[in-house]
Amino acid sequence: MTNFLSRRFGLSVAILSALLVVCGSSVHAQTTPITRQETLRGTITPEREWWDVLHYDLAVQFMPTTRSIKGSNVITFKAIKPGSRMQIDLQQPLNITKIIHNGTDLKFEREGNVFWVTFDKEVAQGVEDKVSIFYEGIPKAAKNPPWDGGITWGHDDVGNWYINTTCEGIGASIWWPNKDIGYDEPDRGMNIAITVPEDLVAVSNGRLEKTDHDVAAKTKTYHWKVINPINNYGVNANIGNYVNWSETYDGLGGKLDINYWVLPHQKAQAMKTFQEVPRMLKAFEHWFGKYPFYEDGYKLATVSYPGMEHQSSVTYGNYFRNGYRGRDVSFTGIGFKFDFIIVHESGHEWFGNNISMKDAADMWIHEGFTNYSENLFVEYYWGKKAGADYVIGSRKNIENASPIIGTYGANREGSGDMYYKGGNMLHTIRQVVNDDEKWRSILMGLNKDFWHQSVTTQQVESYISEHAGIDLSKVFDQYLRTTQIPLLRYKIDGSTLSFKYEKVVSGFAMPIRVLINGKPVSITPTEVIQTMTNPEGIKTFEVDRNYYIDSAKM
Ligand SMILES: [Zn+2]
Repeated sequence: MTNFLSRRFGLSVAILSALLVVCGSSVHAQTTPITRQETLRGTITPEREWWDVLHYDLAVQFMPTTRSIKGSNVITFKAIKPGSRMQIDLQQPLNITKIIHNGTDLKFEREGNVFWVTFDKEVAQGVEDKVSIFYEGIPKAAKNPPWDGGITWGHDDVGNWYINTTCEGIGASIWWPNKDIGYDEPDRGMNIAITVPEDLVAVSNGRLEKTDHDVAAKTKTYHWKVINPINNYGVNANIGNYVNWSETYDGLGGKLDINYWVLPHQKAQAMKTFQEVPRMLKAFEHWFGKYPFYEDGYKLATVSYPGMEHQSSVTYGNYFRNGYRGRDVSFTGIGFKFDFIIVHESGHEWFGNNISMKDAADMWIHEGFTNYSENLFVEYYWGKKAGADYVIGSRKNIENASPIIGTYGANREGSGDMYYKGGNMLHTIRQVVNDDEKWRSILMGLNKDFWHQSVTTQQVESYISEHAGIDLSKVFDQYLRTTQIPLLRYKIDGSTLSFKYEKVVSGFAMPIRVLINGKPVSITPTEVIQTMTNPEGIKTFEVDRNYYIDSAKM
């Protein structure tokens, strides 16, 4: 997803504050008590823990005239412990009408957005089993997609239905029943069959296997198949008068099918703008290793909202113009050199879809790295200085009002600083590592060693420290868990420099590069004053701008 905060340029502060609360990313949201519904949603409850999702088989019909949906999800799972009570998430106002197991109906009861399902007898450990869940209703309409998601029952410019689902944050259970938490993805992927009025096309994740036409019912069903594990919120349905073209990309994983789905009147413009896609793939395969979903292809589909990182099915609503909806998020002009949505949302294929967070509190793993990927894309095509200018320029968006890490066990993400501050933290750590090839090998190693996995921030932090050979735990603590930016206090007295850190977590000792008389010098400040002498005297002093720290004279 793109940063919600970056929309403030077009909004009044009052409106922004109101929307922030809706979005759940404000300071208030962090401090309000966790409700039972949030706990059920955001924790690995006993009713979730005993079973591992192996496969989802979702079939859903969209009925635009009544703005309703109806469908089923067959969940294949393995009992990793014995269990007889299962938590299934499906948000109001949708309803589960029936749950079938081995041909018989199971009992279930509702508690808000959770359904408690009772098996007739305990499922034994190690057994692979299935439940079929039938559901229907009028799903929540999206108020401000993709940030406040649901279903968008819209029309395109010529009056055809143009329907999109968006559910990051709010959760996939806004439109289909599942285990709605990041830690468990279907190991064997997912089938997504979408039934729509016969004059419309439904585009979803993975590959289109076949299309059925029910002439009597005047409907078509589009059968999409995802082979790889997939994020719940990455599953999407886009329905409209879509047309399609494709190309093949020769990448690190062999031949990658790329499919583009756009509305007919968009096609000419899109064929130009979407030339960014192979350029994006080339840059990101260089930095992060092979595209993680060759088996499912890569797809870009136009939608009526800005865009979203739906796995193997990135969505696009950026007006076929460079920048982000007409703006440059870096304020340097560099943002107008590329299409922000294609680059950012596709960056999530590595960070978000390949490496996913277990708990929404760690969403910086998705957004911090993906924000950072934008400047690596810039560096790949326009050089290291341009990349640095871009990420440093974007610091203007950082608020430092609340920490990047959110609240665990409650499906509460941290502050919007996870984007630009996350990116700047990683850019700073790259300076500390001070070895570009090693840094790139760490970025590739993360994607290789956490391939198709859900992880915690601790795993990511430890991985980087271990492979950098530097204990970065205090650096992560400082930038992810506090709102304070390290302050370098310094004094110059003839040829002597005195320096120390303020506003840092205990034990913070991040080495930095400073420029003395224009020459780079490494120092490792701590909270204790240190001095060093430069025999030639100190005429000028500055901190290398690549480090995201503040500095002031003592
Ligand atoms: Zn994003």
